[in-house]
Amino acid sequence: MSSFSLPSRSALTPYGWDDAWAGAFAPHAAAGLRPGRVIRVDRGQCDVVTDDGTVRADTAFVTPHDPLEVVCTGDWVAVEPDGSPRYVRTVLPRRTAFVRSTSSKRSEGQILAANVDHAVVAVSLAAELDLARVERFLALAWESGARPVVVLTKADLVPDAVTRAHLVQDVETSAPGVPVITVSAHHGDGLDVLTAVAAGGTSVLLGQSGAGKSTLANALLGADVMDVRTVRDVDGKGRHTTTTRNLLVLPGGGVLIDTPGLRGVGLWDATDGVGQVFSEIGELAEGCRFQDCSHDREPGCAVLAAIEDGVLPQRRLDSYRKLQRENRRMVAQKDARLRAQIRKQWKRQDAQAREAMEFKRGRWA
Ligand code: GDP
Ligand code: ZN
Repeated sequence: MSSFSLPSRSALTPYGWDDAWAGAFAPHAAAGLRPGRVIRVDRGQCDVVTDDGTVRADTAFVTPHDPLEVVCTGDWVAVEPDGSPRYVRTVLPRRTAFVRSTSSKRSEGQILAANVDHAVVAVSLAAELDLARVERFLALAWESGARPVVVLTKADLVPDAVTRAHLVQDVETSAPGVPVITVSAHHGDGLDVLTAVAAGGTSVLLGQSGAGKSTLANALLGADVMDVRTVRDVDGKGRHTTTTRNLLVLPGGGVLIDTPGLRGVGLWDATDGVGQVFSEIGELAEGCRFQDCSHDREPGCAVLAAIEDGVLPQRRLDSYRKLQRENRRMVAQKDARLRAQIRKQWKRQDAQAREAMEFKRGRWA
């Protein structure tokens, strides 16, 4: 097999290709495969940008049992240099991943986006602030491994500076360690800050419907976005379908992943994420007399003392408990699914072992 060395500044650089990806890809380069980033996934096929243009590739070789390991938008992959169909041979280990619980009651995660650096949580200043909802999005963001950023949108609709400052402060107390940016897409205020954040990697936009995500995406992408995003193509049956590219290079640098599935995300095993959203409660809890304090009515509880002193809003503790409960439920469901999966695997191995025995007997007995 021929090997080729990758140019140091490849056409993939705008898509986020860097030395670390090149390092991870090296063995596949030696095997004659080409690197690329998945910009869209669709029924066993995906569109992959390579330094040789965008190719359609088949994912049959890398279709795993675990739905969380299915090829998804944002993945870096190794594709065959040619062939019809071309196959994705490997998915490079993900740096971060967004998953959500599916809307069905079955507890199965669904992978939404991979290798996201910034989770931009859009929150409208024009609607009543729902801090619990902000916290939920932040938990999800932390859990993915991406760095969250809150963007308060529609600042032009809150012209009073004092009111605006209060709102910003409320959000900041609910988002320790998270930058909070205020923007108005209509006036252009703050967009330069967001553009600069987005330039530093791959971003996704999260947030409630109506929060202003599409408007922010358009502002980041520039004019006539829909023309750019909508690609007419022909599916296998010869019908014309309108499809969208879900991963786009931003003119100001960086990449935006905008998949429909990311709207209305739920929590999925966000144990660490929840802890990070409420980091100040965790810090306070270190001062509790009992290590397993439930901050309910225990003596010497530092969390309750902080509420008493007005340092910690009661709402934060309530919200923390609610998310913890919700998350514990989710984890329990996932554990049940894992156990079922493991049982199935054992059965398979058992059957294989039996088969092997019978084969031996038939041959040697
Ligand atoms: P999405 O559902 O999160 O994608 O929200 P959209 O981007 O569709 O925005 C919802 C509504 O808010 C639309 O009518 C937008 O025109 C409006 N909107 C978005 N950004 C701003 C802004 O900065 N100022 C004002 N006044 N309205 C905005
Ligand atoms: Zn306590």
